[in-house]
Amino acid sequence: MRPLASAATPRYVGVVFVETWLFDGDARHPGAKVVGGGSMTALVPGRGIVAHREPGGVLHTYVQLARGRAWADAADLADPSAVVRCVAEEFEGVGAGADRPRHRRGHRPGRTPPARLPAGHRWARVPGVALLGDAAHLVPPSGEGANLALPDGAGLGEALAAPPGDVEAALAAYEAALFPRGARTAADAEKVLTLCVGGRAPCGLIEMFAGADG
Ligand SMILES: Cc1cc2nc3c(=O)[nH]c(=O)nc-3n(C[C@H](O)[C@H](O)[C@H](O)COP(=O)(O)OP(=O)(O)OC[C@H]3O[C@@H](n4cnc5c(N)ncnc54)[C@H](O)[C@@H]3O)c2cc1C
Repeated sequence: MRPLASAATPRYVGVVFVETWLFDGDARHPGAKVVGGGSMTALVPGRGIVAHREPGGVLHTYVQLARGRAWADAADLADPSAVVRCVAEEFEGVGAGADRPRHRRGHRPGRTPPARLPAGHRWARVPGVALLGDAAHLVPPSGEGANLALPDGAGLGEALAAPPGDVEAALAAYEAALFPRGARTAADAEKVLTLCVGGRAPCGLIEMFAGADG
């Protein structure tokens, strides 16, 4: 849909995210206790592990590796076994007692090649076309993309339902709210990603949670 309204193309954000799910994690993976009752974040400059609990004893983990495009392309990330080997090498010697990534039954690795649209992405009105969610404002992974798509959907519905029933006016009103919302979130997402894997990690994130960074 996006090319109908915009020539912008997503580009790699510079950080590879490898997602893993440990099923029945507490029973089968002793190291899972480091996640605690909610979530666990372990970050250093350039790499990190974030894990959280999901229903049914599932532990969902994101491994973040700040690597160039060439590294990502060379890493054969389409092959789950290769991904696990690659991630394990990145964390060799780290986390005594923790369950380092291993390929085995009940452990389904997968990766997402995160991309982003230019900050402040916007387009001229195209009759009959509305973009929402990632099509409108693909931001670096920061825990906000789906949260941002929800007000898009609600805002579009409200605009279309509002009198006097002029669809083009409704879409223009929808976009007038969408553009600044997307720009704000893109800026925040960039900041969060830098806090997670940038040179000061994890200090900036700790300061943010402590309220010292707004
Ligand atoms: C690693 C990672 C972690 C994330 N974590 C979070 C988080 O914790 N919280 C959060 O809020 N967000 C998170 N996000 C972002 C979130 O996943 C996205 O912002 C959200 O899924 C966007 O929803 P969407 O409906 O716009 O797009 P999508 O979820 O991408 O849905 C688009 C759908 O359209 C389909 N489609 C594409 N082309 C066509 C076509 N031509 N015809 C028909 N169908 C088509 C696709 O198959 C897909 O099902 C994360 C993203 C990544 C990469």
